[in-house]
Amino acid sequence: MRAVISAGSNMEDSRAHLQSVADEFAAELLDASSIYATAPWGGVEQPDFLNQSFLIETDSDDPYSLLARCQRLEQQANRVRDVRWGPRTLDVDIIDFEGYRSDDPELTLPHPRAHLREFVLVPWLEIDPHAKLLDRPVSEILAELEPQGVRKL
Ligand code: ATP
Ligand code: CA
Ligand code: CA
Repeated sequence: MRAVISAGSNMEDSRAHLQSVADEFAAELLDASSIYATAPWGGVEQPDFLNQSFLIETDSDDPYSLLARCQRLEQQANRVRDVRWGPRTLDVDIIDFEGYRSDDPELTLPHPRAHLREFVLVPWLEIDPHAKLLDRPVSEILAELEPQGVRKL
């Protein structure tokens, strides 16, 4: 199954936290984007983030087992959930799982806010220029967004 994962960090050694995601998925990795420095999204005053996206090919056809792996990475980074959209050591979201659609709050697919976020769409497009989100080209969705301060490092 082809999946797109988006990881972000703005606490501690963010590059090391992103590397832990690359390491977890190394055997399944089709491509990793550049790392991007991005302005915080959601209105909380906090340091800029580093974000990176990963295109993987998983053996498992169960998106919940992939979610469990993402959440284990967050736990290993000692992530504390405090302020919504606040600072975090590591956030690992599933953006797309083989085009699968679900409105389960525990795992909504595709990610319900991906289309609003340059920090998700720009790295995704870098690794998959023909990517589609709910039948629309990601490039088209991105072209309609106001710039949000995403810079390739
Ligand atoms: P956002 O969802 O807006 O990116 P967030 O990443 O800060 O915000 P979290 O606190 O990390 O939110 O996650 C809250 C819950 O979202 C998780 O417990 C998880 O079950 C659920 N969730 C739903 N859909 C997804 C998805 N596609 N990827 C990851 N988590 C998801
Ligand atoms: Ca997130
Ligand atoms: Ca998350």
